[in-house]
Amino acid sequence: MSMEKITEIVLASRNKKKLGELAEILAPLGIRVRSVLEFPQASEVEETGSTFAENAALKAESVSRELGCAVLADDSGLMVDYLEGAPGVYSARFSGENASDENNNRLLLEKLSGVPLAERGASFVCVLAFSLPENESVFFEGRATGKIIDKESGDKGFGYDPLFLSDDLGVTFAQAGNADKNLVSHRARAVAKFVEWLKQR
Ligand code: IMP
Repeated sequence: MSMEKITEIVLASRNKKKLGELAEILAPLGIRVRSVLEFPQASEVEETGSTFAENAALKAESVSRELGCAVLADDSGLMVDYLEGAPGVYSARFSGENASDENNNRLLLEKLSGVPLAERGASFVCVLAFSLPENESVFFEGRATGKIIDKESGDKGFGYDPLFLSDDLGVTFAQAGNADKNLVSHRARAVAKFVEWLKQR
């Protein structure tokens, strides 16, 4: 990894919320975050990996090679113990391509039907891959642990949030809302590790 100072990072994500959040966190370090959407020459990368790290690296390394600059990419999802880590990298498309959150949540409840709470442990996992051209990715992983309850609770957040009873918060991520979720979430924890690494390099 080159030791020159990083002043700009391209985020290989088409999600505007993630961009805003990261830009706010990195601004005090003198780093500007730009969206990959500003660069039409960057191709969209298919998430064909079988792990979060593989998918994040696929995105970070391809965009970094194409644009010749520092790139951060993330991949995340829910891993349910009873389902041996599923839906994992298939979290967004658990119930089919272009699946809705509602259908994914319904399928998850079906698969856990009759399973007692003690066996419904789960983790949200986020892996960030940071890549400079000509370099292998560096990875940062964040996890949030909890239990999948048997009916949706709360109307904030997105995805599996209404079913995820957070060990840290004692309520579901959908009951907690963003401010509290961001204190303990898998994404926040991965970003915190990345920021620590940036500060030390
Ligand atoms: P992506 O990494 O943004 O592509 O997210 C993959 C999928 O994982 C999402 O579509 C959601 O189904 C699930 N997921 C990831 N993070 C969260 C979260 O914080 N809350 C709820 N669902 C999440």
